[in-house]
Amino acid sequence: MDHLKALIREVPDFPKPGINFYDITTLLKDGKGLAAAIDGLEKAARTAPADLVLGIEARGFFFAPAVATALGVGFAPVRKPKKLPARTVSVEYALEYGTDRLEIHEDAIQPGQRVWIVDDVLATGGTAAATAQLVEKLGGTVAGLAFVIELDFLNGRSKLAGRTIHSLLHY
Ligand code: AMP
Repeated sequence: MDHLKALIREVPDFPKPGINFYDITTLLKDGKGLAAAIDGLEKAARTAPADLVLGIEARGFFFAPAVATALGVGFAPVRKPKKLPARTVSVEYALEYGTDRLEIHEDAIQPGQRVWIVDDVLATGGTAAATAQLVEKLGGTVAGLAFVIELDFLNGRSKLAGRTIHSLLHY
């Protein structure tokens, strides 16, 4: 996993001063690194049975469909407002300043389906917690959440108490 960490580019002060951005594009373009990341996420997702994998816009989309394929299940996107064409359900969540919203098609998850949630970074946990709420709003069960990177110092896990969380890399 140290090999994977070496492929993550840290960009200071992006997108605004004081934020250290963990850029996974340098991992994605490395064939072995990309395969190792997908493999790690797949192994994480094999710890609890899944019927569906959700990816969170936008960088979750780089990983989630590959994990779904490896598991032999389908993929569904969780998107920013007004991107999905059919009927949606949404959840609003708090940002540092103001609020944001995430949406999913209302027929993306069948009641009782077990769902893995995949994203690149677990930071404060707001995005992941909102996604877990969307799953439950549609009658699904959150099997677990898998991330490439977890920023331990932001304690995103506190917003996901009681849930199964796997992260390949910790900062
Ligand atoms: P949060 O809701 O705070 O856990 O933020 C998670 C979302 O924001 C993820 O979808 C990440 O892609 C992105 N994100 C937050 N902080 C960072 C960071 N320092 N570097 C890269 N991505 C981040």
